[in-house]
Amino acid sequence: MDKVKWLQQMVEQSPTDPQAHYWLGKELAENDRWLEAVQSYSTGISLCTDDTLRMEIIIELTKASVQMQQTTSTECHKVDDVDEMIETEKAIAASAEELHEREVASEEIESIDFTPRLKVIDGEAPKKAVKKGKEQITFADVAGLDDLKKTINLRIISPFYNKGLFAKFRKKVGGGVLLYGPPGCGKTFIAKATAGECKANFYPVHITDILSSYTGESEQNLKSFFDKARFQRPSIMFFDEVDTIGYSRSHSSANSRSLINTFLTEMEGIDTSTDEVLVMAATNTPWDVDNALKRPGRFDRLIFVAPPDKKAREQIFKLKLAGRYAEEIDVAMLAAQTEFFSGADIENVIELATENVLAEILITGDERPIMTEDLLHVLEELKPSTLEWLRTAKNYVKYANHAGLYNDIEKYLRLHARSI
Ligand code: ADP
Repeated sequence: MDKVKWLQQMVEQSPTDPQAHYWLGKELAENDRWLEAVQSYSTGISLCTDDTLRMEIIIELTKASVQMQQTTSTECHKVDDVDEMIETEKAIAASAEELHEREVASEEIESIDFTPRLKVIDGEAPKKAVKKGKEQITFADVAGLDDLKKTINLRIISPFYNKGLFAKFRKKVGGGVLLYGPPGCGKTFIAKATAGECKANFYPVHITDILSSYTGESEQNLKSFFDKARFQRPSIMFFDEVDTIGYSRSHSSANSRSLINTFLTEMEGIDTSTDEVLVMAATNTPWDVDNALKRPGRFDRLIFVAPPDKKAREQIFKLKLAGRYAEEIDVAMLAAQTEFFSGADIENVIELATENVLAEILITGDERPIMTEDLLHVLEELKPSTLEWLRTAKNYVKYANHAGLYNDIEKYLRLHARSI
């Protein structure tokens, strides 16, 4: 069977798997079948929730579009269906727009739909949100982290839905939640899911979006992020690697001190129940976060996001394998063999196993699903990425846990003392 045919079959078997559409698109492009490649990539993009894959598809789609336009005259004769051509043109325009949006962070914000997606209704459960044509992720997509979900529900989501109640008790709802823990364990993912639960806009802010070499401009950039979030409420601002903004002031220059002060002023100015702006942040190095950021009214709730436990790992395997061409997988066995693997590590295991199976099919021509053994085989080569972080944290717990800041890590380390 030729490669295109069996990839087409794979797409038929897993029509909602963006990766399958991506591979089919690449194979079609290899064969100079640009129009079909563009169509395949476009479908892939519409199904894709993973940012890295999305970016890859957009790049390939753009290349294929350019090729297609270069051969437009000949291709046009081949296309009988005018609607199909129009649809393709629209897909190209949309992808170009998306690429542009991603390149310019500030413009990305401008492009977000201004219509509020949150309806404040006392006591009623929120309905599932859809944002700009894309399905938003919710807590159902996040495996484990049950205590964290409860805290976020109480602290972040309920003030959104019970404005009246909070006003009655004259309770100002402010301050943010700072998530910390080893990389890849779901800090960003749960922040996105929180936005999904609240049907709010999600604004990821990174230090590189803010920093400028001109005096005062970084502060102005930061301020305008807060202003835009307030303007396009309801919204959740998410500061990734917040340690880079609040990097312990004793280490920092006058310039970054002024940036931290702006950050503090903006955060203190937020009243969640009226502003409908929530601030979340994450860091892999909580010991580098400025103490001033951890005071009441700022990030006064520090939450440890630990590596997933066995039950959560089982769930992550299930969630990430869903929609792939796979036989019944023994997720319990895999979970048992992946202690200290992060969610991202597990995703990587699945990706590598999928690649191996595909490579094998390409060689043998015999199509088969992913099997438990394929995943076990990949595991033989991999180590959990969180161990290094946990060992570093051990030292901080031992020598720098003055205010009991790292009690949660300490508890976790005690439970796993033998393996770390
Ligand atoms: P970080 O803690 O470094 O912010 P991320 O939230 O970016 O990690 O996680 C990386 C990827 O790993 C996510 O995009 C998600 O697909 C997967 N992942 C991590 N933790 C979980 C989880 N608890 N449930 C489901 N997927 C997860």
